[in-house]
Amino acid sequence: MNRIITMAISAMLLCSCSKEANELHDEDQQSVNEVQNQEEQIVTKSVGSKVMMQAFYWDVPGNGVWWNTVSSKIPSWSSAGIDAIWLPPATKAAGGGYSMGYDPFDYFDFGSYNQMGNTETRFGSLSEIQSLISTAHSNNISVIADIVVNHCSGGASEYNPYAGGNTYTDFQPASGMFARSYHDFHPNDVHSSDAGAFGGYPDLCHDKIYVQDWLYNNSNSIAKYYKNVMGFDGWRFDYVKGFEPWVVKNFKNAVGGFTVGEYWDGNAATLDWWTGQAEASAFDFACYYRMRDAFNNNDLTNLNGDMLLKRNSYRAVTFVANHDTDEIYSNKLLAYAFILTHEGYPCLFYRDYEDWLDKSKLNNLVWVHNNLASGGTSYLYADNDEYVARRNGSPGLIVYINNSDSWQERWVDTNWSNTVIKDYTGHSGWEPTTQGDSWVKIQAPPHGYTVWSVK
Ligand code: ZN
Ligand code: ZN
Ligand code: ZN
Repeated sequence: MNRIITMAISAMLLCSCSKEANELHDEDQQSVNEVQNQEEQIVTKSVGSKVMMQAFYWDVPGNGVWWNTVSSKIPSWSSAGIDAIWLPPATKAAGGGYSMGYDPFDYFDFGSYNQMGNTETRFGSLSEIQSLISTAHSNNISVIADIVVNHCSGGASEYNPYAGGNTYTDFQPASGMFARSYHDFHPNDVHSSDAGAFGGYPDLCHDKIYVQDWLYNNSNSIAKYYKNVMGFDGWRFDYVKGFEPWVVKNFKNAVGGFTVGEYWDGNAATLDWWTGQAEASAFDFACYYRMRDAFNNNDLTNLNGDMLLKRNSYRAVTFVANHDTDEIYSNKLLAYAFILTHEGYPCLFYRDYEDWLDKSKLNNLVWVHNNLASGGTSYLYADNDEYVARRNGSPGLIVYINNSDSWQERWVDTNWSNTVIKDYTGHSGWEPTTQGDSWVKIQAPPHGYTVWSVK
């Protein structure tokens, strides 16, 4: 479920990193009115209504260039219809300048303290991430921080009476903020464990008042410092299977903002349960696995399967790949056509958008999502290699996915009668008129898709 990175930090400690998605979505996700400071205008940024970008992948280029790389992309992403970017864990980790950030050491060192072998993080300096966040905000893009609070890494060895021996639980960060000791990890005087641990990392205990104060209660807690000082707008919680959902709920309620948890589980009912407990969104791993089976096995009836987006679209963050998992190797663009026409908040994977897939086709689908894909969903047809669904809002759409080797045609029931429609992807030149009873014949190209709406 998580990528594990092995680094020789010490003979006994593995540095593993978990990543993935967490959730986004809250009551305030549709728009966030943020006063950047007293002198600036009020900037209204939507979060969760357009499309999110996962602005990294595993082992992005090191040497502190990544924040600047992301900054340079932001204007074009904003033009394309992206409303939020998800950054990797941005503070100093045990792996120093090599770490992807999932082995957190100093939650308040954004690249300004010389510790763990480096001053900058893998991604850059404090001033570079400040510039990135400022650039995002001036382009009406929200910035989502990756919060890793299940475990920590890089502590010094100390005698731990609860473990009956030495543990790497002595954390003295250079920022001077959130020093930790064996009292703050499992086992301790509260209990021996929580919902889960990750790799060999010291597992943080969220029942400790001291830990809660540093996570979200204090004025300089992670939640309040990240929001009020750094300017982050939302939260992606890493590895939420490792602790109880109230931790996410309390963090989010302390500062607000769009919140999504990485609950890595393909069971839609379980995801639905977690979102209710955490009062936050979840990455829709159920959708991800149904799509994997649908496209890799050429059986699009899997798209009719159970997904979080069908149980609670408001809490579902849909995705095709992320930094941890990328298994839809067959006709990946068709999977993007699915998530960008269906309910839920879609997240694009950086590599798919910038490096691997046809950017103009993705931009077209983002436009379709932001302009046509509204309302509830009617599932019209599915077999091994064809799938048709309808969004019932205004204007709404009909998406036709064809995974066969030839053009396909099909009569479908629309929401429009006696109306000229067209394919907004440009894949079909047809401009048919719907019948008085609202039926019409549409088509889709081999291993392709069309999206129909009112001309
Ligand atoms: Zn993870
Ligand atoms: Zn605990
Ligand atoms: Zn845990």
